[in-house]
Amino acid sequence: MSSNIAQNYPYSSESETERAATVGRVLAGNESLAGTVKVESIGLPDEDRWWVWKCPTGDCPGLLHAAGFAVNAHAVYTLCDSCGRTYLR
Ligand SMILES: [Zn+2]
Repeated sequence: MSSNIAQNYPYSSESETERAATVGRVLAGNESLAGTVKVESIGLPDEDRWWVWKCPTGDCPGLLHAAGFAVNAHAVYTLCDSCGRTYLR
């Protein structure tokens, strides 16, 4: 588990079980988003805990959860549990 960019401090962390459940719930309700995540990210390695970040979208109260690693960047591909946008962290 590593934090990278200074202005993107993690907000919290969650267990792998919590992460998988949240990402699964968000993707289950949005088929096109699930397709996008599948194309743009690769699977995560086994970790016990993952960082959680605040969603940077306007006044969105959501949190960003790790959904995979970005295919073309050394970054974690994250998914907002509220607005459903994706961000690299
Ligand atoms: Zn959001």
